[in-house]
Formats: sequence, C-alpha cells, structure tokens
Amino acid sequence: MYCDLAIIMARKFFVGGNWKMNGSVAQVKELVELLNKIDVPANTEVVVAPPALYVDRVNQAVKKEIQVAAQNTYIKASGAYTGEISPQMLKDLGVNWVVLGHSERREYFKESDEFVGQKVRFALDAGVSVIACIGEKLEEREANVTNDVVARQMKAIANEINDWTNVVVAYEPVWAIGTGKVATPEQAQEVHGFLRQWLAENVSQEAAEKTRILYGGSVNGGNCKTLASKPDIDGFLVGGASLKPEFVDIVLSGQQ
Ligand code: PEP
Repeated sequence: MYCDLAIIMARKFFVGGNWKMNGSVAQVKELVELLNKIDVPANTEVVVAPPALYVDRVNQAVKKEIQVAAQNTYIKASGAYTGEISPQMLKDLGVNWVVLGHSERREYFKESDEFVGQKVRFALDAGVSVIACIGEKLEEREANVTNDVVARQMKAIANEINDWTNVVVAYEPVWAIGTGKVATPEQAQEVHGFLRQWLAENVSQEAAEKTRILYGGSVNGGNCKTLASKPDIDGFLVGGASLKPEFVDIVLSGQQ
C-alpha cells in the first residue's frame, strides 16, 4: 500500500537542455540526430531549449519522447514589441515549454524578480509550462544569504501564481553556470531541501511533494549520477553539456 503510494507520488525525473545562443542549421541537425537516438527512460522527461529561431525546426524533427522549449517569452500575446515572442506563438507551433528567469536574462537583460513572476504567470495562462530559474550569485553565497535570495525569487513567482502543477523550478547557482565549478551534491541538496520546505510553507504540501526541483550549473556526464542520487534533486537543467554527446548520459542518470 505504502509502496504503491510512493510510486504514485514519485516525481518524474526531468532533464532540460539549454542551448543558449548556440547552434547553426548544421549543428541543430546533428543535435536532433543525437537526441533521436536516445532511448528515453519511461521515468524521465526531456525538454530541449534551442534559440528561438530554431525552435520550430527542432520541434518538427525531434521524436515525440523529447519536448521543446523556448528560452524566453514576453508578457503580451502580440503587438508592437519588437524582438519579443509570446507563449501564444509557441502554442501555435505546438511548443509547450519555456525557460524563464535564467540568470543570464536576469543579469544581461536586467529582468527583475517581479518581471520574471509576471512572465511565469503569462506563460502558464497561455497553457505553456515553465522551467523557472532561480539561484544566488557568488557574493550572495559567500555572504550566507543563499536561502534569502532563492526565497525572494520564489516569492516573486508565488505572488503571481497559485497553481504550480506546470512549473519546474531550476535551482542554478550563478557561480556554477558555465564555470566548470559544480555545486557539491550536498550543497545542492541543502538548497533543494530548503526550496521544498519553502513550497510546503508558502504554497502547499502538495506543491512541495509534486514540484520538480532541478539542479543546474556545470552538470556533465561525470557528475550527474551522484547529484541525481540526492533525494530532492529531481533532474537537471544543462547548458554546455546539452550540446555534447554526454547529454545522453545525463538523460539516463535518473535511472538508478
Ligand atoms: C544553464 O545555462 O542553465 C547552465 C546550467 O549552464 P551550464 O550547464 O553550462 O553550467
């Protein structure tokens, strides 16, 4: 009985690939070929996020076990917002995911916590599921305010939405993104545990139990298994390694 319940409650392992502003027609073709060869485990959800220009191409060519995300969307459906794309446009193409609040958008494009929260709400209202990124900078970790920072980022989202069913949280310490400096499994688990507790106290026990919390920051084929063994790490958001053959090992790391 308890065993059945555990199976029902289990969170499906999730691996996201963030291609950032990388790729070309030729490289996208190669990556799709790589993805289409993966025997995606039944307990794993895979979502890749190509640059916006390639989203439709990838979505049409990739096998159905792999889903596609945009790396950003705006808070309007259409109109005079040059350079932006809307979640409604993603839906039009049959694309059901978007990455929002990535630290590169927060840093280089000055996206505030509040704006990220609004984007999350707008995408969810349009029927697009969200990979919502949060994480502290190095100076914030060194000042021992990691939990305050991620709680503030979560609160800005919780101010906008009540239902977390279609949200996956990606905890990505900024100091670990693209640096080769991965958080130790213990460091990551500590923050993931805090985030789950935060969801229990500020949203609901159900949201805490069901929401997938991914780790992101220099995940690769070598470190993914130990990270995946931690109880509150439900998968990964992968940048650099999502452009390499080792992405296959990361996708398979949820089977242990
Ligand atoms: C990311 O871009 O979300 C990321 C985690 O990058 P990397 O894996 O390269 O650190």
